[in-house]
Order: sequence, then C-alpha cells, then structure tokens
Amino acid sequence: MIDRLTCLLCPLGCELEVETAGGRLEVRGHQCDKGLDFASEEVLRPKRNLAASIPVAGTDGRTTAVRLSGRVPREMIFPVLAEIAKLRPAIPVRRGDVLIRDVLGTGVDVIATRTVV
Ligand code: SF4
Repeated sequence: MIDRLTCLLCPLGCELEVETAGGRLEVRGHQCDKGLDFASEEVLRPKRNLAASIPVAGTDGRTTAVRLSGRVPREMIFPVLAEIAKLRPAIPVRRGDVLIRDVLGTGVDVIATRTVV
C-alpha cells in the first residue's frame, strides 16, 4: 500500500510517499531524517494537536482559548476534547496556565493560550 503525505515539520513541506509491504515501511521524497520519523508516525501511529475555547467562570460569557502542549494519538482526540469541555477555570486565567496536567495520562498538558482578567 502507498500513502502520500506532506511533511509538516518545516516550511519545505516535502511530498512523501510511504510504501508499506510485509511489515516493512519505505519512505521516499524526504529531504532529511525528520521526514522519515514524521512519515512512520503518520502511518503507524498518527498524532494530532487541537485547540478549543472554553468559558471562564465568573465572567459574563467570556472565553479563553486552550491548546495541548504536544500531540496526542488520534484516537485520544475526542476523549481529550470531552475533558476540555468540562473545564470552567475561574477568572483570572493567564496565557500559559496549565489547566489539566497530563490529560488522561497522555503526558500532554492542556494550556490556556488567552489571558482573561
Ligand atoms: S522531510 Fe525534512 S526538509 Fe522535508 S519538510 Fe520534512 S523536515 Fe522539512
């Protein structure tokens, strides 16, 4: 099977061709070794980051933005979003505040990216 991907690790955006056959993985089109790691992760265990907005308690409907400190396995996106949806941090919220540490044991934190004071 052949997958075609764009490497997202730098602005060059190499077009990668990843061939999997008999448990073997062959990558073509990368201009550096980071592309090899990107391609194998995308094919074997894809990960994603995410961003969301959540309400801040003690305000009249103001929200803060959150993101993850790193990428989580794709199958964890909806469980992590469900945890984020439960958040109601109290004002003040500052950019960089960790709102959930090690969310669902992923090793990744949920971080505020907008200050609300
Ligand atoms: S393979 Fe290397 S050079 Fe190409 S986009 Fe990825 S990181 Fe950049």
